Amino acid sequence: MHGRNEARLTLTLGHLYPDQLNLYGDRGNILTLKRRCELRGIELRVVGLGIGDALAPDEYDLLFIGGGQDKEQAPVAQDLFETKGIGLWAAIEDDMPVLAVCGGYQLLAHYYRPAEGPDMKGLGVFDAWTVHKGPRTPRCIGDVVISWNGMTVVGFENHGGRTYLGTARPLGKVLKGHGNNAEDGTEGAVYRNAYGTYLHGSLLPKNPHFADYLIGLALQRKYGLRRLTSLSMPPGEILNGSTPAQLTPVDDPT
Ligand code: GLN
Repeated sequence: MHGRNEARLTLTLGHLYPDQLNLYGDRGNILTLKRRCELRGIELRVVGLGIGDALAPDEYDLLFIGGGQDKEQAPVAQDLFETKGIGLWAAIEDDMPVLAVCGGYQLLAHYYRPAEGPDMKGLGVFDAWTVHKGPRTPRCIGDVVISWNGMTVVGFENHGGRTYLGTARPLGKVLKGHGNNAEDGTEGAVYRNAYGTYLHGSLLPKNPHFADYLIGLALQRKYGLRRLTSLSMPPGEILNGSTPAQLTPVDDPT
């Protein structure tokens, strides 16, 4: 069991397709995770995983995949399926926290059917599928607010595809905006610790409580520490760095 006074906590984040999937400042998600780890004395190493790179699940503690346009999504979809699929599935079944935004979210469900061209096969992590109903159907664009775990999460969405959930649990309920499909009031999907969402903006700089939640899941999984107790702390207080979160070992034998 790792105690509070042992070596510095370190987490490794795998950033999938940073060159292809990087819309609307998705990289801000990585910067926020890094900063919020830093404020607590946790080192976050970031490793980019591009097309052709294998994903060895044991080497990571967190994974992020961002959004992209249809033309960027197609080669990614193929690589995800052929090169990273088995590793990603293994990581998710082993409760690794994963954040997938927009195009990345679509590719973690069963398929994305674009307005033109063949279907892009997804990994089927989320029991959900996405259909772009053609150029005459308006895109889902604008600010979004959802309720999540009794809190709100805000973001910006811009997607042509409409996602429909099968048995997948939604991430939240739409309070404002379109969410998965502008029809059923659901937003995003959750499977184990994998979170899919349409919220760009970027998501995590605007929602530090969600960033902390993901970091907490990673620490819990790697070190057996409980989630960060700072979840309800006002963001300003944490950003000053003056009030580091308390980390409590789950089963401290001492
Ligand atoms: N190409 C997808 C769509 O328009 C994803 C867009 C995105 O990632 N913002 O539905």
